[in-house]
Amino acid sequence: MNALISVSDKTGVVDLARALHELGVRLISTGGTAKLLAEQGLPVTEVAELTAFPEMLDGRVKTLHPKVHGGLLARRDLPEHMAALHRHNISTIDILCVNLYPFEATVAKQGCTLEDAIENIDIGGPAMVRSGAKNWRDVAVLTDASQYQPVIDELKTGKLSDKTKFALAVAAFNRISNYDAAISDYLSSLQEDRSRSLFPGQSNGRFVKLQDLRYGENPHQQAAFYRDLYPAPGSLVTARQLQGKELSYNNIADADAGWECVKSFDTPACVIIKHANPCGVAVGKDAAEAYAKAFKTDPTSAFGGIIAFNRTVDRAAAEAVAKQFVEVLMAPEYTAEALEVFKAKQNVRVLQIALPPGGATDWDKGRNAMDVKRVGSGLLIQTADNHELQLADLKVVTKKHPTPQQMQDLLFAWKVAKYVKSNAIVFCKDGMTMGVGAGQMSRIDSAKIAAIKAQNAGLSLEGTAAASDAFFPFRDGLDVIIDQGASCVIQPGGSMRDAEVIAAADERGVAMVFSGVRHFRH
Ligand code: 5GP
Repeated sequence: MNALISVSDKTGVVDLARALHELGVRLISTGGTAKLLAEQGLPVTEVAELTAFPEMLDGRVKTLHPKVHGGLLARRDLPEHMAALHRHNISTIDILCVNLYPFEATVAKQGCTLEDAIENIDIGGPAMVRSGAKNWRDVAVLTDASQYQPVIDELKTGKLSDKTKFALAVAAFNRISNYDAAISDYLSSLQEDRSRSLFPGQSNGRFVKLQDLRYGENPHQQAAFYRDLYPAPGSLVTARQLQGKELSYNNIADADAGWECVKSFDTPACVIIKHANPCGVAVGKDAAEAYAKAFKTDPTSAFGGIIAFNRTVDRAAAEAVAKQFVEVLMAPEYTAEALEVFKAKQNVRVLQIALPPGGATDWDKGRNAMDVKRVGSGLLIQTADNHELQLADLKVVTKKHPTPQQMQDLLFAWKVAKYVKSNAIVFCKDGMTMGVGAGQMSRIDSAKIAAIKAQNAGLSLEGTAAASDAFFPFRDGLDVIIDQGASCVIQPGGSMRDAEVIAAADERGVAMVFSGVRHFRH
C-alpha cells in the first residue's frame, strides 16, 4: 500500500506516518512534509522522485502529475485501468492525507494583501483530494487531523470499510467546497460593486455564527445569529454590546429595522421600533429632542420598544429614554454620563454601532448587499432596498405645489414609509411622525389605523404630509387620507387610475408629488 502525505498544517502527521509505516505502508510526500518525516527517521519517497520531475514555480506545481493522479484515479476493479498503470509504471496511491494552504487564516490576518491571498490558494492539494475522493472505494482521503487516529485504529483491524471511506470522501468534498467558497467570497469582497456577487454563478456570501440564541421568534423555535463573512461597515452585526441581557431573536430583528431606518437620516434622528415597525420617528436639534418627538407619536406602543439614535446619546437623552421601558438602545456613541444613567438599569441592552463611513448621504460602502427570505425549501434573494429619494426626483402632479416646508415633510414621511411594513401610510409634520399605519392588507385600513393612533396620542393630523409606500389603485385611499387632514401627499404614481387620483387631489385642494419608486416591505 502507498500513502501520499502532503500537509501544510503538520499537526499529528508524524504519528500518522509512523503508524502507517509500522503497518507496512510506503510513505510518499511533498517537500516540506517529506523533510519533516525524514527528520523523524521515517523512510519517505519524495514526490519529485516519484514523478522524476522537480517541484517547480515556488511550489505551485508539485503533485500535478499523471504519476500522482493516475495512482489516485485508477479503478482497481477495471483491468484496463490497472493495465494502463502498469504500462506507464504508475503505482496506486491508496491513502491520501492532505490539508490545504491556509487560505482562510491568511485572509483573516490584518493587512493581508491580494498577493498573499493568491499565493495561499492551494491548487495541487484540492486536485488530489478531488481525485482521491472521487475514487473513494479505492482511496482513503484524510483531510483533517481528527481523522488520523480512527483511521489508524480501523486499519489495524485489517482494512477500511466502505462506510468509512465514503464518510472520508464526503468530508473531503465538504472541505473543498468550503475552501473554494472562502476564496470566492474573499475575492468577491474586493469587488467594487458587492451586490453583483448575488447573481447566478457567483458566490452568495458566507456566514459566520456569532452566537446561538436562547430561542427563535417563539420559544419553541431554535435560532442562531450569523454575520456575513465581510459585513458592510455600519451594519448591525458590527455592533458592540456595552451592557444588558443577551439579545434575543426578536431584539436583533427589531434592532436591525431601527438601525437601518435611523442611519438613513443626515440630521439627529430617533427611531422607536415595535414588532419590526417604526412606532415613532423624528428628527430634532439633538438626540434628546428627536427622542421626545418620536415618543409623542405613540407613547403606548413605545413601551418595551427598541430605540435607535444616529447621534451621541448624552445625559439628557439617556435620562429621557430611561423613563420608559426600553428593550434595546442603539447609538454610534454614548457620553460617560449617559452610560452612568443606564448602569442603574442593567437589563437594558445598550449597543454601540459605528455609522457607515460617508454618513447618510454617501453611504454606499455601508449598504447591505442583500436581502434574504426563506420560502418553503428555497430562498428568495434580492439586493437590499437601498433607494434614496432626492428632492430633484419628485414630480409635482397637482395644480397646488407643496411649500418648501411641505416638501421637507414629504421627504421625511417617504423615508419613514420605506421602513414600515406594507401597506404603509405615514402622516408626518415638522420632522416627526404623527400617525403610522402598518402592515394592513388594505391601504384604506392602514390610513384609518394611522388616524386612530394619532387620535389616541392626542395628535391632530390637520395640515400633515402623508406618504403611501405604493400607488393608490383608486381614489378612495387618498380620500381617507385627506379626510384625516393631510394637506400634501407623496406616493410612487404609476397606477392605471393615476388621472382619477390626481383629479381627486386637485378637487380637494391638496398638493401631491410622485416619487416614481415603490417601497413594498414585507
Ligand atoms: P509541503 O509543506 O509538503 O511542501 O507542502 C504541502 C502543501 O502543498 C499541502 O498544503 C498541499 O495541499 C500542497 N500541494 C501539494 N501539491 C501541490 C501542487 O501541485 N500545487 C500547489 N499549489 N500546492 C500543492
